[in-house]
Amino acid sequence: MSFPFRPPSPLATLLAALLLAAGCASLPGSAPTSSPAAESRPAENAASEAEQEEEPTVTLTLLHVNDVYQFTPVDFGARGGLGRLSTLRKQVLAESPNTLFLMAGDTLGPSVESTFHKGKQMIDAWNALGLDFAVLGNHEFDFGPDVMLERIRESRFTWLGANVMDKKTGRTFGETPPFVIREVGGVKVGIFGVLLGKTKYSSKPGPDVYFTDTCAKARELVPQMRKQGAQIIIGLTHLFVAEDKVLARCAPIDLIIGGHEHVMMQAVSNGTPIIKMSSEARELGRVTLHVGTQSGKLKSMDFDMLPVTPEVPEDPAFAKAMREYDAMMAELSQPVGRTRVPLDALEESNRSHETNLASFVADAYRQAAGAEVALINGGSIRSDSVLRPGPLTRRDVLAIHPYPGSVVSIEVSGAVLRQALEHGVSRSAEETDPGRFPQVSGIQYAFDVCRPPGDRIVRVTVNGEPLDVKRTYSLATNSYMSGGGDGYSMFKGAKYRVSPDKGRTTQDVLRDAFASAESIAPATTGRIERLRGGARELARKDDKEHEDGKHVLSCPGTASAHP
Ligand SMILES: [Zn+2]
Repeated sequence: MSFPFRPPSPLATLLAALLLAAGCASLPGSAPTSSPAAESRPAENAASEAEQEEEPTVTLTLLHVNDVYQFTPVDFGARGGLGRLSTLRKQVLAESPNTLFLMAGDTLGPSVESTFHKGKQMIDAWNALGLDFAVLGNHEFDFGPDVMLERIRESRFTWLGANVMDKKTGRTFGETPPFVIREVGGVKVGIFGVLLGKTKYSSKPGPDVYFTDTCAKARELVPQMRKQGAQIIIGLTHLFVAEDKVLARCAPIDLIIGGHEHVMMQAVSNGTPIIKMSSEARELGRVTLHVGTQSGKLKSMDFDMLPVTPEVPEDPAFAKAMREYDAMMAELSQPVGRTRVPLDALEESNRSHETNLASFVADAYRQAAGAEVALINGGSIRSDSVLRPGPLTRRDVLAIHPYPGSVVSIEVSGAVLRQALEHGVSRSAEETDPGRFPQVSGIQYAFDVCRPPGDRIVRVTVNGEPLDVKRTYSLATNSYMSGGGDGYSMFKGAKYRVSPDKGRTTQDVLRDAFASAESIAPATTGRIERLRGGARELARKDDKEHEDGKHVLSCPGTASAHP
């Protein structure tokens, strides 16, 4: 997941802040090591509690963030930024020298900067900040295993990923240690890291990297860590919280620090607290551990978070270390145009219905290629954010179109055009956000998600006339689609009017379209009508949630549109 420019919902932020404020109190007895002695002997228990109270404690601090894709602030400067995070780290260190900084995965990509540097800029940023440990996240493999190995070599901190294995060596990927034991303030803190197995398919770890069962891994490692003297066991994870909860039942773990959902959360499973921050270092998580100096036992924990806002000054040492990226950052913030309305670049919108941005992009392609119509895949609109009214920058162009491609024009028959539209909506009942979803210019169409794939288009007009299946149309699209991408095989072999090598890049066409007027204000105009059993589809809030989080919509006369 990545929402690099989407501000967090104010309600979610408030709720999270309240939860954290309310939950600030330690979770007594939450850790297996601090559970009280046998309850059947109250007198003895009371005595031992009194004893424990007398025992002095040492304080350890764990700072943590997760899912951080850019080192500069997000939400138009309102939150995040690793320069500010570096200042906070130094402030905490000054108060509590027994501090470790942890990152719970996902940082190499996706981002505009990573399209140039493949995540190296983030490694430089974490090195400058003084990160201690990180767990591999699914996005760490977005540029393939070789780039990740290079990034591991560049890191001055330790990557963990005990269940991420390399077929070639039979050992962990990148030879990361299965766990580490770090002595902090005289206490031996053991940390192991695990990553969700679905990374195998959602990212690009390659054929040699595989993922083993996280529960089995915890069962194997935790006793080893204890044997080697670990007094505190911390799981640094990049899993769905449901998987974290299972993990907590597999072995006695004192604390799980996780990530991946981009939602701030606290949970407890089998007595083990699980905590995650949202994303993009919008806030810095802090866990304070109180450990008995004689018994070496974890007595209690406190949880809070430090907001990362403009009130926190940027660490000048961090800024200095990142100076080599100044030119790129300046270039990215150059204005290229202006919008008077929010531009919908959300993935789910662009892959399910007409949006003002997709229609604007399709119009721009059609004009640039001098074609009668345009058809583009909704998946070609990236950034997954809503661009708010105001200046549009080079960064916005690259966020929307991160991958280079060119705008082409091909000759297609009306029959092929219809076939392409059918293909485009053929997953619209089966998936929430199919990348192939057709966004158009010069075309109006209606489709019914309750009809079978291949027979969903119920109406098509081209520039106000009914589609003529026998006629030849000039169609603008991107070179990915004309080459048969996203399953549009019907375009393969079509005669080019503007070929990929002659066409201008999609990024240049979009930039020029942004610059074509003093300001733009694109609107949706009813080019695409989405029907459900003949009627206009209701808003998604009426959807039923499937247990895997996917929406399930029912059609008239059927229990579900889901197969
Ligand atoms: Zn993730």
